[in-house]
Formats: sequence, structure tokens, C-alpha cells
Amino acid sequence: MRKRLCKIVATIGPASSSPSMLRLIRDAGVDIFRLNMSHGAHEKLHGVYDAIRAIETEINIPIAIFADLQGPKIRTGAFESGSIKLSYGEQYRLVLASETRDENTIPIPHQELLDILEPGDILKLDDGKLQITVTERSKHHLIARADTPGVLSNRKGINIPGRALPISALTEKDREDLGFALDLGVDYIALSFVQQPSDVTEAKKLIDGRAGIISKIEKPSAIKYLDEIVDISDAIMVARGDLGVECAAEEVPLLQRRIIKTCRQAGKPVIVATHMLESMVESIAPTRAEASDVSTAVYQGADAVMLSAETAVGRHPPTAVAIMDRIIAATEKDDDSGGYMGAERGEDGYTTADAITLSARRIAEVLDCKLAVAYTKTGSTARRLSRDRPHCPIIAATPDTNVARKLTLHWGVMPVVTQDIGQFHEMNEKADIIAKDHGAKDGDRIIILAGYPFGRRGKTNTLKISRIGAGAD
Ligand code: PGA
Ligand code: MN
Repeated sequence: MRKRLCKIVATIGPASSSPSMLRLIRDAGVDIFRLNMSHGAHEKLHGVYDAIRAIETEINIPIAIFADLQGPKIRTGAFESGSIKLSYGEQYRLVLASETRDENTIPIPHQELLDILEPGDILKLDDGKLQITVTERSKHHLIARADTPGVLSNRKGINIPGRALPISALTEKDREDLGFALDLGVDYIALSFVQQPSDVTEAKKLIDGRAGIISKIEKPSAIKYLDEIVDISDAIMVARGDLGVECAAEEVPLLQRRIIKTCRQAGKPVIVATHMLESMVESIAPTRAEASDVSTAVYQGADAVMLSAETAVGRHPPTAVAIMDRIIAATEKDDDSGGYMGAERGEDGYTTADAITLSARRIAEVLDCKLAVAYTKTGSTARRLSRDRPHCPIIAATPDTNVARKLTLHWGVMPVVTQDIGQFHEMNEKADIIAKDHGAKDGDRIIILAGYPFGRRGKTNTLKISRIGAGAD
């Protein structure tokens, strides 16, 4: 059982796709696996998906998997040698191609981008690490000058800050990837470069309830419609990689706070992503600033923090996960940790279920409860309790495997798949067993939440305080 409540998402790539490495990083702390559709062939991703599900069956703990659609992200093509070197002030040709051979050409497989570029346009490459400026346009290609030296490798992102690109929210590739991911059975689909609420509703129609939706906030226009986008999404990702290229770097920390706060108020899970332990792609230890960054996300109330290149292509995937796990646990030990901050919702509009979970939070605190067991058919009781951030893990007992997997993303929630209860005495007895399975000892106090009559979808209306091994207390 994990010793922390904030969750860890890991991106899978060549450094982590073998079954043994998947198992290692899962055991080191990964709760949610991210398949990045920008990289990796379907066949390969299919193998990874199956390997994760095999681990899930073996350990008998639900695991969430999400497919991250590339979205209208413009990327360079590939280089025959895997990369080229950009030298400061040198000229490079930009051509319409998916792969090129020579050292002075950058392949761009997007006619629509080449069509609109003009001399003077600045292109940020690889999350803004590199920059080139268009200097000339001729009939068949463009010329650009490198403003920064560095290595440009295959399929790196291209951003043109301030330029609206005439590309739809779901590209042809996204639609194909979406069909593939839904057939696999992923729990969530992440949408890249969401710009407006209709991007989410369009995807929602295609997904038709087969997976939850994680909207990635990485465009200034998504910030403009933040409330609406949060409202219609199942979860949100603060996608700081592109956000920091599309907006000024100094705005990113403020936007992160604001997005987390909006999500907490709306009761939607929020993932803080990108560059969290970036130096660990190479190094065996993080920088102090990176440790601080992970800790800050926990303090701010994030449901999950994410590893990208660190686990996808890094040299030390299990160590990166283990260090992230330790930073979260250490931060949560601090009683003042903002991670336990309530949902910051207003005084109005409380339902019975809201009142029950809010009380459960307070009871867990004053009685030092070891954990809460939430019986939940649709996941709603566990989601609500997670929103109120009690100082103890929430065991979500549900008969529905898909509900259980999705709940993995929510702060503090540990799902178990188990049959519905029918009677009050079962509610106690089963909670006792589940709690003991999760480390509770005789004499420990736990909280039980349920909706009565049992086994129906619907409202949480029952709260019971129980002592392990003693029945009613
Ligand atoms: P990406 O999204 O890794 O798919 O670009 C995350 C980000 O932009 O931060
Ligand atoms: Mn991105």
C-alpha cells in the first residue's frame, strides 16, 4: 500500500516499455500509466497496454491507463541519423517531408504550417529549448536561421507563439489513435491543445462514455475558457511544457496555481505535468529546484504529478519514480500541507452527499481515523470524499472494474473491486476486512460511507464510525 495520497503518473516510452520495467516502476510508485500517442506504433502500445493489465491482474490492484492524443501539435519529421546539430546563426531549409537525410534540412510534415510562415516568424522547437527564425520563402521551401545552438532530434514539437493555426482540434491521426485506444480499453483519453469548450464536447461525442476525458491546458485560449472546460472534463492536466512556450515562462507558476484552484473548487482531479524531475533523464538525483517543484504541486492540492521524459526515455525510470514518491510522502507528513486544504467551495448548494463527506473529513481529523471505506457504484461517493481531502486514505469499494480504474487518478483514493453489499451488518464486516487488507489493526477507527439502500447508483447518505474488530463503536 502506498504511503502517500497524491498520485504519480508515468509516461511510457522505450526506457520503460518492457514488462519487467513496467513492473519495477509500478512497484516504485506509479499509479497511472500514460501512453503518448505522439510516439510509438500501435503495435508497440498494444504490447505495453497488455503488459500493464497483466501486472494489474497479478497484483490485484486496479490501474488507470490513459492515451494522450497528439492533438493539433505540429512536430518536425525525422532525421535519418536521429538528430541534427543546429549551429548558431546557420541557415537551415524547412521542407515538406516526414524524413530527411542531410544535415542542413529540417523536415516539416505539415503543408498548412509551411503555407502560412513568413520571414520574421519565430519557431520554438522542442518545448522552447531551441529557436529558429524564418528568413526567406522560396517556391519549394523556406529558409530559417538558428537562433540557438543545440541538438534537434526526431519529432520535436514546434510552437509559433501568438499564431493561430488552421488545424482542427482532433486531427485525422487523433481520430485513428482514438479508435485504437478505445478498442484497447484505456480509462481516460487526454486531449492536447484544447482551445475552447467545443473541442471537448466534440471529443466527448466520439468517445461516447467509453473513457473519461482529461483536458490538457497548454494554450492561452484554454485559460480564457477555463471554468467551462473544467466543468465538462473529467480531469485536467496542467501541461506546462507547451504552456510555457505558448505563454511567458513567468506566467506558468501563476497559471498552475489558478488551474489547480479552479479544479479543486469544481471537484475535478488535476495533474501537474512536465519537467518535474527533468534532470533525472540523465542524472541519478534531482536538482533541489525540482524537488521543490514536486513538493509545491502537492502543497497546492494537485491530485497527481507526472513524469514524462524521465520515465519514457530517461536513464533511471525506477529511481525517478521512487524519488517522486519520497518527495510527495515527505510533503504530506507536514500537517500544514496545503494538500489537505478543503475544496474551497462556497457555502451554497450543499447536497446531502456533500455534507456527509465534509463531515467525514472532520471526523477523520478529530478521531485520527486510519482510513475511510466508501461503498460506491458509480465512484461518486469516493470522488466527493477525495474532493474534501480527509487526512486518511479512501478505500473505494466498487463492483465495477472500470469505475475502480478511473478512481485511481483521484487524490487519496485506493479502489478495490468487490461485490455490492446488501445489508447493514455486511457494511461493517466487509469494511473491517477491507481495512485490515489495507493495514488497519484491531482497535483502529475507520469511517464507512455508503448510500442506502445499498447497491443502487445514487446518493451518499450514510456515515458510520467503526472500530476494527469491535463491530459498532
Ligand atoms: P506533451 O504534453 O508532453 O504531450 O506535449 C505535456 C505538456 O505540454 O506539458
Ligand atoms: Mn503538450
